[in-house]
Amino acid sequence: MATPFDEVTRVSSLVERPEEPVGRPMSSVIRERVKAAKQRFHANDNISAFIHSDAERDALQAEVSEKMEALLRSLVIDVDNDHNTRDTARRVAKMYTREVFGGRYAPMPSVTAFPNVEKINELIVVGPITVRSACSHHFCPIMGKVWIGIMPDAESNLIGLSKYARIADWIMSRPQIQEEAVKALADTLEEQIEPAGLAIIMAAEHFCMHWRGVKDQSSMTSSVMRGVFLQSDGLRREFLSLAKVGS
Ligand SMILES: [Zn+2]
Repeated sequence: MATPFDEVTRVSSLVERPEEPVGRPMSSVIRERVKAAKQRFHANDNISAFIHSDAERDALQAEVSEKMEALLRSLVIDVDNDHNTRDTARRVAKMYTREVFGGRYAPMPSVTAFPNVEKINELIVVGPITVRSACSHHFCPIMGKVWIGIMPDAESNLIGLSKYARIADWIMSRPQIQEEAVKALADTLEEQIEPAGLAIIMAAEHFCMHWRGVKDQSSMTSSVMRGVFLQSDGLRREFLSLAKVGS
C-alpha cells in the first residue's frame, strides 16, 4: 500500500535526475548519449560506457521484453493463452541483454597484467577456447573454437590463462560476422598484452546455414596474424601445429 512516505521518496528520486524525463524509452536515452559522444553503435560495438546504472540496464531489458512480446503478437502467437510462450518475451530479452549479446552491454572483464619479468620470448599457445556468438545477419548462433598464439617480448604484459577465455567470451557475445569477431579479439588482446606478435584462428559452425538456407557449407575458419607471425613462416607453422585446428 502506498504511504505518504513512498510518495515523497518517489518525487525526490525524480528531482535527482532531471535529465531523464519519465516515459522516454531507455534505448533513446542511451542512443543519444552514444551519438553525443560521436561513437559507433553497430551490433558488435560495446556501449556499456553509456549505460550509467544497473537500473538503466534493467529498464533497457524491460523495453526489449515489451518489443519482443509485440514481435510474438505480430507472428500471431497467442501469448495470453499459450502457456509455452507466455514468458518467452521476458526470457529472450534477458538472454539478449545479459547473455548472448551481453558483450555489448557489460564492460570488459577486469584483467590483471603482469610484467614479463622472466623475459619470456617463447611462443605461447592458448586453446581451444570454446566460443559462442551470433551472426548479425540472422541472429543465429555461431558455435566454435578459438586458438590464440602470443609471441611476447621483454616489454609485453602477460595475462592469466583464464583471462583469454573471459575476454574471448566478452568479444564473442555480440551479433557479428566471424571475420570481424576475430579482428576485434586480436585488437583487444594486442592492447592488453602488447606482444611482438599475435595469431588467432577461429573455426566455427554457423547455424544460419544449418537451420535455414543451403543447410550445408556451415563451417568457417578465419585467422589473423600480426607482428612477427607475418614475418616468420617457421613461427606460423609452429603455431598451426600446436593449435591442431580441427582435432
Ligand atoms: Zn547468418
